[in-house]
Amino acid sequence: MNVLNKNIDIAEVVKNDIAHHFHPFTDHKSFHAEGGPRVMTQADGIWIWDGNGHKLLDGMSGLWCVNVGYGRKELAEAAYKQMLDLPYYNTFFKTTTVPTTELAAKISSVMPERFKHIFFTNSGSESNDTIVRFVRHYWKLKGKPYRQHFIARTRGYHGSTMVAANLGGFQGMHEQVGTEFPGFHHIKQPHWFDLGGDKTPEEFGLEAAAELEKKILEVGPDNVAAFIGEPIQGAGGVLIPPSTYWPEVQKICRKYGILIISDEVICGFGRTGNWWGFETMGFEPDIVPMAKGLSSGYLPIGAVAFADHLIKDFFELGGEFYHGMTYAGHPVAAAVALKNIEIIERENLVGHTREIGPYFAEALASLRDHPIVGETRSVGLIGAIELSNDKARRGRFASPGRVGTMCRDNCFKNGLIMRACWDTMVLAPPLVITRKEIDELVRLARVALDATYDQVKSELA
Ligand code: PMP
Repeated sequence: MNVLNKNIDIAEVVKNDIAHHFHPFTDHKSFHAEGGPRVMTQADGIWIWDGNGHKLLDGMSGLWCVNVGYGRKELAEAAYKQMLDLPYYNTFFKTTTVPTTELAAKISSVMPERFKHIFFTNSGSESNDTIVRFVRHYWKLKGKPYRQHFIARTRGYHGSTMVAANLGGFQGMHEQVGTEFPGFHHIKQPHWFDLGGDKTPEEFGLEAAAELEKKILEVGPDNVAAFIGEPIQGAGGVLIPPSTYWPEVQKICRKYGILIISDEVICGFGRTGNWWGFETMGFEPDIVPMAKGLSSGYLPIGAVAFADHLIKDFFELGGEFYHGMTYAGHPVAAAVALKNIEIIERENLVGHTREIGPYFAEALASLRDHPIVGETRSVGLIGAIELSNDKARRGRFASPGRVGTMCRDNCFKNGLIMRACWDTMVLAPPLVITRKEIDELVRLARVALDATYDQVKSELA
């Protein structure tokens, strides 16, 4: 790939960016002091190039989204064709478009039978906003208007709109939202490495699930509308719950008549080796928000699938749902998402992920001998490496996030994109990754870990 032949003045782009671009999730003072952005210009498969011709293995699929990998001409062609046929029409006021309807049917076809109805949004955040609106109205329709409260987890991530930030369990976000909205509660995350103490992971899974029942009793069982969780908490640090956790959570929700929302924005579309993370983790949700892998990030689109038992009452009793976005079900995004799902099916990327998952797990496990690696874990093609100053005691370096950031920067320098969630290094490569490429990913990760070790070895216990 001839990346240097693009005639882009990268210094000019950086200058312009610093002058005009207000970035999300960025501390601009240090960002500008460090010289501004790295400019990404081209990508193919699992590889991405910056404007200086530096080649990186994208271990994060962009932001957990480019499931089918970069450089898919078919997706560009689907967008081009749809733009010529009909670039836009809305789905309000009793109209639809062909790809929007086909996509709803296609999503439904890769879900359990009970999910026949799909609401479209533009992002994961909007999907979760939609759900809060739907669920609160639903319980009113059912004659239980007091069921308005949501329970979620600390370090759960559900998006960045006002409601989604409240639903999520990131303290820094709550503080900046200004005032926490009423009706959102958080229980501890099922993260054995940090919180499991002397318990086995299975014992700890039950203990973490029991927190849900405690919270339900505290809020009042009749007041709780729904529990929301990512099957595996992604941005929280790829927290893979022990096998006992989700079945117990489901039991508790059913006992109190509480709806279960499985946030599949990261885990959906094959990431865990099944179409949906709830299949891998063994539970049955009532509502499923999705985004990212739905279009593999080629265009912005999100969606929510609702189970029949909710839809039946909602359609019969609900009147008008006063909610919707101009671009909901956008025909071009829908055409691309449809083609993306066809690629996942045709290339059996879900089966490939399931099949290659154990190889990925073993490759990560080969890093456990490293002096600053406390644990590795993965399911399918989502995984984590815990950085530790004391392997035997699952110890942590001082100032959470400091060493993780060092390691992330060392990865970038050495040709690998691996993200740091505090001191947990996380990975979610495109689902097209091969065994040979996994070997290369792990080789590059070790180079970065070695460089990080050199910087922090005096801090080891
Ligand atoms: N839910 C989960 C589980 C996510 O990981 C994200 C994004 N990282 C969101 C919701 C929000 O999605 P978006 O950024 O598209 O609004």
